[in-house]
Amino acid sequence: MSVLQPVRGTQDLLPAEQRRHRLVTETARRIAERYGYQEISTPIFEFTEVFARPIGETTDIVSKEMYTFTDRGGEEVTLRPEYTAGIVRAAISNGLTQNLPLKFFASGPMFRYERPQKGRFRQFHQIDVELIGAAQPAADIEVIMLGADILEALGVLGRTVLELNTLGDSASRNAYREALVAYYQQHQGGLSEDSLKRLERNPLRILDSKDEGDKRINADAPSFADYLTPEARGFFDEVRAGLDHLGLGYRVSPRLVRGLDYYCHTAFEFVTTDLGAQGTVLGGGRYDGLMGVMGGPETPGVGWAAGIERLALLIAEPDAPPRPIAVVPIGEAGEAAALKLTHELRRRGFVVELGFSGNVAKRMKRANKIGARAAVILGETELARAAATLRDLDTGEQVEVTLAELADRLAAFR
Ligand code: ATP
Ligand code: MG
Repeated sequence: MSVLQPVRGTQDLLPAEQRRHRLVTETARRIAERYGYQEISTPIFEFTEVFARPIGETTDIVSKEMYTFTDRGGEEVTLRPEYTAGIVRAAISNGLTQNLPLKFFASGPMFRYERPQKGRFRQFHQIDVELIGAAQPAADIEVIMLGADILEALGVLGRTVLELNTLGDSASRNAYREALVAYYQQHQGGLSEDSLKRLERNPLRILDSKDEGDKRINADAPSFADYLTPEARGFFDEVRAGLDHLGLGYRVSPRLVRGLDYYCHTAFEFVTTDLGAQGTVLGGGRYDGLMGVMGGPETPGVGWAAGIERLALLIAEPDAPPRPIAVVPIGEAGEAAALKLTHELRRRGFVVELGFSGNVAKRMKRANKIGARAAVILGETELARAAATLRDLDTGEQVEVTLAELADRLAAFR
């Protein structure tokens, strides 16, 4: 039989890598809590329409990246490719829209059928933040600052640039769309096949194309800034003024359009040059149209998602797990005492390793190998005195201590 392999684009997170992921998630959760964001979890799969409708059929995600299948009961379901649609669906399904604003934090696996490469997988993980029910620029400022604070706490903010743009309101977007269509129609010959399709259905998305030919045409495309209504411009100015006031630097990037169709006004990405082509670590924006598109009451929203794998590549090495205390029995009496002592120490919060076999020499060797901080050696003669030998494995010093005082003495090794 051939050796079983994981599916292409998926990966096992072995303990060292899992520790990096955990640091990212725990840091984000802690900071999100400071901002009043409560953790939520939604199903990993949903009815396909939950994603297909709001994300939009012309997006890469829906047109070619979704893991969609018919289940045994004949339901069309999809493994979630992103968090926002599921969280908004949850807000509607649970009738949460009576009590706005809603502030959610979430983290978990996502699935997209993409070409795997560094920082790009078919199963990957995101942390996600959604603020539902606040239409003010202050809401955009809050979620961006929350993202920046998390990146700062992870030590990666300094390696990123915040790119900021506005997609305006619908009046601005309609005017801009017309101008774009006129421009692209003059350059149809040079557009990629994908972009020719987008030209009919969602020309704004051509600006987001990664095709080299499209990129050259995009370089001279009309700029959104020239088509913003005074209201849309005012909204963007307020967001910028807030970030300026708080001292968070950014770069206005007119070409930044989010891949998803329901975005309006603010769009932003924290981008790094340290990850090659997969430079976007955190991206998001405002999605005032989404709740309505999904059949809920018209409710504004703004949020972002960040890729945990990409963040995990950027952070410093997390703290090593705590060093254990090794309990080392000698003889049968030692074994029985070790079993009990190990259990008691663990219940008192110590990290304790008790081997499963081997003589003293073997067990001491193993204690050193796992990086134990100290060893508690339980021999018959010491046990007769209700005592044990405590050895500091860093200095080699050892003393006899009574079992009664053992826990207090071990506290010094924590
Ligand atoms: P990209 O342009 O890199 O494809 P995207 O615009 O598709 O990103 P979003 O849908 O905004 O990304 O997802 C938010 C974040 O999730 C991205 O900034 C990135 O950090 C991460 N991400 C997206 N797709 C993947 C993937 N296939 N593998 C790993 N991380 C991903
Ligand atoms: Mg993508």
